[in-house]
Amino acid sequence: MAVVGGGMVGAALACALAQRDFSTVLLEAREPALVWEPGSYDLRVSAITRASQQMLQNLGVWQAMVEDRVTPYQHMHVWDRAGLGEIHFDAADLAEPDLGHIIENRVIVRALWKSLEGAGVKVLAPTKLGALDLADEGARLTLADGGILRVGLVVAADGARSQVRELAGIASRSESYDQHAVVATVSAEQGNRSTAWQRFMRDGPLALLPLERDLFSIVWSTSPNEAERLCALPEHEFNGLLTKASESRLGQLAVLGARAAFPLRLQHAEKYVLPGLALVGDAAHVIHPLAGQGVNLGFLDAGALVDALVAGRGRGRVPGALASLRVYERGRRGHNTATQLAMDGFKQLFSNDSGVLSLVRNLGLGAAGRLTPLRRLFEKVALGQGLELPTISRPPR
Ligand SMILES: Cc1cc2nc3c(=O)[nH]c(=O)nc-3n(C[C@H](O)[C@H](O)[C@H](O)COP(=O)(O)OP(=O)(O)OC[C@H]3O[C@@H](n4cnc5c(N)ncnc54)[C@H](O)[C@@H]3O)c2cc1C
Repeated sequence: MAVVGGGMVGAALACALAQRDFSTVLLEAREPALVWEPGSYDLRVSAITRASQQMLQNLGVWQAMVEDRVTPYQHMHVWDRAGLGEIHFDAADLAEPDLGHIIENRVIVRALWKSLEGAGVKVLAPTKLGALDLADEGARLTLADGGILRVGLVVAADGARSQVRELAGIASRSESYDQHAVVATVSAEQGNRSTAWQRFMRDGPLALLPLERDLFSIVWSTSPNEAERLCALPEHEFNGLLTKASESRLGQLAVLGARAAFPLRLQHAEKYVLPGLALVGDAAHVIHPLAGQGVNLGFLDAGALVDALVAGRGRGRVPGALASLRVYERGRRGHNTATQLAMDGFKQLFSNDSGVLSLVRNLGLGAAGRLTPLRRLFEKVALGQGLELPTISRPPR
C-alpha cells in the first residue's frame, strides 16, 4: 500500500499497516524537521485524547514522546466572555490521572518517523506525486521524477489541500469560518496549574493549553484582520491584549518568540473511498480547533481503516476492494460529521450576540457545571471514551 502524506495521521497509519504485515510505502512531500534547538517549542500543538494516547502506546511510540515532552493536564476550565457561564472539569472526579495531554505536533511526528524503519515502512521523502490511476485491483502512482509505483491501495493522508483527493476527482464541501487562529507560546505569571483554559469571545475562542512549567501554547481564534494585527503588534501590546482577553486569570501573560496565524475552515470530502483509494485525517475532514479534535479524529480514521483492511484480508479480499473500504467509510463518516456539527454549533452559539442565545449560553455552561450527568458527558468526550473504538485505540487484552 502507499500512504501519501507523512504528517501525524499518515505516519501513524503507515506504522500500523506495516505492523500488521501490509507492505507499506510512505510518500512525503517535505523532509520532516526531526531535529530542533533544545529549549525551543513548536508553535503547533495538539490536545491528545485518551484513545489517541492508547493508539500511540500500542504503536510503541508513546514512551519516546514522554522522554521528549508531553504535558498531562488534570483540569479544564471553560468560560464565556459576558456573564456567569463557567464550567470546570477535574480528572480526580473521574478517578483518572489526567484529562489528556498537550503535545507539540513535531514531538508526535518525530516519534512516529523514528519508528517507521523498524516497522518495515519504506519511506520516499521528499517526493512529489505527478499522476494517479485507480482501479479495483489497486492504484498506479506516477512520481514527478518519472518513477512508477503499483500498489494495492493508496491512502490520502496529505492534509486539507490533498493533492491525492484532487487527482482522484473527489469534491469537498468547504466553507471558511472567517476566522484565523493566532498561535504562540506564552509564559504565565501564575504558572499553568495543569489546566487547559478556554474563554469564548465574540470573535472566537481563546485557548491556553499547558506546556511545561509556567508555559502555555495559545490558540486565539479571531477575525482575519484582527489576527493579522495581533501578529504584527509589538510584544508588549500583544501581551496586554492577551492578558486582558484571558481576564488576567493567570496573571500577566508574555509571548515568547514567534506568532503565526492559520485560516480556519470547515471541510468534508463527499466520499472517503473509491476502488483502490481511501482518504484519512484532514484530507477527508477539517474542523474548527476549538475542542482540539482534528488529529484525534484522524487517528480514529487510521485505526478504523486498519480494522477494515485486516477484516477484508481475512475474507480473501484485495486491499483496494471497495467492499472493505466502504466498511471503513460507514464506520467513520457519521462520527466525523457529528463532531463537525457539534463544533460548528458551539462556534455559532458563542459568537452570536442575541440576548436569547446569550442567556441560553450562560444557562448552558452554568447548568453543565452543576448537572453531574452532563458534566460526565463532557468529560467522556475530553477522554475520547464514549464511542466504539478501533482495535488499535483500545487497551491490549
Ligand atoms: C491552530 C490549530 C490548532 C489545532 N489544535 C488541535 C488540537 O489541539 N487537537 C487536535 O486533535 N487537532 C488540532 N488541530 C487539527 C490538527 O492539527 C489536524 O487535524 C492535523 O494536523 C491533521 O493531520 P494530518 O496528518 O491529517 O494532516 P497534516 O498535518 O496536514 O499532514 C499532511 C502531511 O502530508 C504532506 N503532504 C501534503 N501534500 C503532499 C503531497 N502531495 N505528497 C506527499 N505529501 C504531502 C505534508 O507535508 C504533511 O506532512 C489544530 C489545527 C489548527 C489549525
